[in-house]
Amino acid sequence: MSKIIKKIGVLTSGGDSSGMNAAIRSVVRTCAFHGLECVGIYRGYEGLMEGDFINLDARSVKGIINKGGTILKSARSEEFKTKEGRQKAYDKLIESNVDGLVVIGGDGSFTGAMIFNQEFDFPVMGIPGTIDNDIFGTTHTLGFDTALNTVVEAIDKIRDTASSHNRLFFIEVMGRDVGHIALNAGVAGGAEEILIPEEDLGLERLEESLRRSRKSGKSSSIVIVAEGDKIGKNIFELKEYVDENMSGYDVRVSVLGHMQRGGSPSCFDRVLASRMGVKAVESILEGKTNFMVGLLNNKMELTPLENAIKGKSKINLELLRVSDIMTT
Ligand code: ADP
Repeated sequence: MSKIIKKIGVLTSGGDSSGMNAAIRSVVRTCAFHGLECVGIYRGYEGLMEGDFINLDARSVKGIINKGGTILKSARSEEFKTKEGRQKAYDKLIESNVDGLVVIGGDGSFTGAMIFNQEFDFPVMGIPGTIDNDIFGTTHTLGFDTALNTVVEAIDKIRDTASSHNRLFFIEVMGRDVGHIALNAGVAGGAEEILIPEEDLGLERLEESLRRSRKSGKSSSIVIVAEGDKIGKNIFELKEYVDENMSGYDVRVSVLGHMQRGGSPSCFDRVLASRMGVKAVESILEGKTNFMVGLLNNKMELTPLENAIKGKSKINLELLRVSDIMTT
């Protein structure tokens, strides 16, 4: 029999993303709904080891569903990677009578949660919060949709100046290992070419595509480049390459950077966060542990943390084909 759950802790860890506040709100209100106490833990695993906790009731999370970032702050902690660090964290949870932990974060945070669960048999549940959408077991992570909307808005604005001046723009978006942001935002923003880490298009293909686009009468072009594209050149090197090898292009570069992480969460992310928070708390109440809550076929589903961490989130091949057709 699993032990009776009376108090749940919630923390945000690793890279922040929009929708984390909406998820905290949902965890807190679901606890209140079921008559459980809830504590917020500041600064991820750092605050957990220090016992930096705050009691949260349904009213203390008012007015945050529309806020980017995380009211609990996020942090990275080297100490939590040690057994001593995790022992400290366990002692603080026991001291405060916390019976279960909801971790909102990415695969690093989930690795920490999984090891912690294995060592102390402490109930943990993960909520995927990262803009990269690189977690197995969910079609969407919190913050991905908001980041896409931000990127598409930026592409639209850059296109105005690109077409006014007949320019070629390389726009770098986040996604070191995965091209989800680049592919989706590229299709939505009508990019002429999209360079993602999963595909090696090669510089020749890029050249050919730009020439084709010019021939077809386009006066400006937008190329979306994921941080980790396989051509192996960073965005400034791409500009240099075109400057040196292709005449007649006025090339500009725009790196969108951290603006992609922040901002008021989209409707989609707010709804997703609300659903995930409910599922996380109710799953702990049902005695489930060491899972991540995810969205699959529009249903809330649980995936073992180990699979969520080790599994690969694959690029959508159908969308890749759509992108190829659209950039013809
Ligand atoms: P994200 O959760 O966004 O992937 P990180 O990879 O930085 O972010 O991980 C966040 C935190 O999770 C780390 O600072 C560390 O405290 C914890 N963590 C990551 N890997 C491990 C591990 N192998 N063992 C214990 N804790 C870990």
